[in-house]
Amino acid sequence: MRNTLLAIATLLVFVACKNDKKENTNTEEKAKTQEVNVYTHRHYPADQELFAAFEKKTGIKVNVVNAKADELILKMTQEGEQSPADVLITVDAGRLVRAKDKNLLQSVASEKLDKIIPSNMRDEDNQWFALTKRARVIVYAKDRVQPEQLSTYENLAADTWKNKILIRSSGNIYNQSLMASIIEHNGEEVAKTWAEQVVGNMARSPQGNDRDQVKAIVAGEGDVGVVNTYYIGKLLNSKNPEEVKAGNGVGIFFPNQEDRGTHINISGAGVAKYAPNKENAIKFIEFLASKEAQEVFAKANYEYPVNAEVQPSELLQSWGTFKEDNIALSILGKNNKKAVIVFDEAVGNNRKSRLASTI
Ligand code: FE
Repeated sequence: MRNTLLAIATLLVFVACKNDKKENTNTEEKAKTQEVNVYTHRHYPADQELFAAFEKKTGIKVNVVNAKADELILKMTQEGEQSPADVLITVDAGRLVRAKDKNLLQSVASEKLDKIIPSNMRDEDNQWFALTKRARVIVYAKDRVQPEQLSTYENLAADTWKNKILIRSSGNIYNQSLMASIIEHNGEEVAKTWAEQVVGNMARSPQGNDRDQVKAIVAGEGDVGVVNTYYIGKLLNSKNPEEVKAGNGVGIFFPNQEDRGTHINISGAGVAKYAPNKENAIKFIEFLASKEAQEVFAKANYEYPVNAEVQPSELLQSWGTFKEDNIALSILGKNNKKAVIVFDEAVGNNRKSRLASTI
């Protein structure tokens, strides 16, 4: 018996020493390579400023790979376990859900992030977290539309807006996420009818980006459009006088204030599944969610800060406060496929009925 106890004690000491040694080696390795590899879709000067601030504050070097989100997701998939990526930053919750579904992210435990990021703005398994918010609003020609005529996204299907609606293609994920929320709130059948009616009300076939819709309103091609808020900020602060004129020509209307609230989307970040620098990755995302970093986000890109301690910029405040749709943003990703199908069918049916009316 005594011998057995002695043998167990010796084994325990051995294991403890071995673990100690392992930890030391890890720490040494980390000390040598204090860095974080960030794959990001965002390409704003403010982000560079923030990365530099993080480096200064922590001594952790930020290595950036910049590309479109779908390219980054593909890159991470191809790299597999060998991927150097520590953090993935994308715009639109739909893409973060896509990355999670492809098993490219991992759950992280962070009290700071739990506290700062509202639960509907992060993944249920804490695989991704919102960093900034944007509202998808209705913009209208100030000289032709009274804001009282507007109410909800659903109301864009009304005959009042025949040949007056401008919106980018449904191939764009911003519209797919808006549709995903409409499906969630109203059901697929109602969403389908709505989409068909909106397609029927379009002033032209979808073309261009959000900014182009605003420019088309001001050029008189249509009266109302659906765009993300920060594009208005960009237009108003553009060096190009034509863009400033376009920004000034439209009013901003926050839809669905009497019911669920205006559709919100995010840009956000998650820790990569095979992150070689996981601790640094968590520190990095915590920094981006901090008050200090959120102030920079808020000022620089006309987005709404996700950290409630930080006020939106003066311009955004001038648009007024509004009720947000608090749907769990993971639903935008979960309903994405349905949204694409609903749009495809709506466009197809509309084409058929137009054809029928010309025969
Ligand atoms: Fe955008």
